[in-house]
Amino acid sequence: MGRFDGRVAVITGAARGIGFGVAQRFAQEGASVAIVDLDEAAAAEAAAKLTLGEGAKAVGIGANVGSAADVDAAISRVVDELGGIHVLMNNAGITRDNLLFKMTEDDWDLVMNVHLKGAFLLSKAAQQHFVAQKYGKIVNVSSTSALGNRGQANYSAAKMGIQGFTRTLAIELGPYGVNVNAIAPGFIATEMTDATAARLGLDVEDFRKLSAEHNPVRRVGFPEDIASAAAFLASDEASYITGQTLYVDGGATLV
Ligand code: NAP
Repeated sequence: MGRFDGRVAVITGAARGIGFGVAQRFAQEGASVAIVDLDEAAAAEAAAKLTLGEGAKAVGIGANVGSAADVDAAISRVVDELGGIHVLMNNAGITRDNLLFKMTEDDWDLVMNVHLKGAFLLSKAAQQHFVAQKYGKIVNVSSTSALGNRGQANYSAAKMGIQGFTRTLAIELGPYGVNVNAIAPGFIATEMTDATAARLGLDVEDFRKLSAEHNPVRRVGFPEDIASAAAFLASDEASYITGQTLYVDGGATLV
């Protein structure tokens, strides 16, 4: 018996990276899973790779989380095709790093649109179902960069914004049986951090080694590390926890 038997989980940006790791964990623990990502073919391919429990289903849905029309259509499809919605993980994300004086208005708008507007639109579309059934779990994805990171004024502002958004939704939705929490990952080995290595002109393995040296546990994180935290926060074991941001960073923010 899995912690998510009979539940439906929606994870955005889950065609790869952290989101896919989380989708795998939810599926392994019994959930039906909707993988929402920009490219429907990639989302469907990822959904087809999941190992599902008995009676569980998976679907890949193409949607831009920054578009209200896409998001409303995606949530309607989830409810029609998977029979409901119980867990939402707002994970889709992008970076457009640059020092402030070189950062363009587009770099700023794009990052705000995907992280903040995306989390807003998905949460708004999901909450009507959550409130009606008096049950729901939202897990937002922040970052250790919320605390400040050179070259990431846009991303840092968005990720700290996610923490305020999380606390506010927790206050508003708690009386309706909805828990809202956030995870702030440190360095997680994905295409996002591989792209950062490329931008800095570093070899991927050297970049990971360098990052590992900067945290107490002396290793980088993997999508599975975030999946463990997400599965806990989305489970009924965490029903007295809401409005929190859990740093999953190997202790990087302690040093
Ligand atoms: P990733 O490997 O780049 O995956 C992100 C996924 O989100 C991609 O499949 C991407 O699709 C999708 N996406 C981007 N914009 C989207 C949009 N508008 N609508 C729908 N999907 C969209 O990134 P990741 O490392 O797994 O990161 C996942 C989350 O964790 C992000 O919120 C990120 O900011 C956060 N995070 C990551 C780290 C880390 O070290 N990796 C650390 C802290 C926080 P395309 O490929 O088509 O663009």
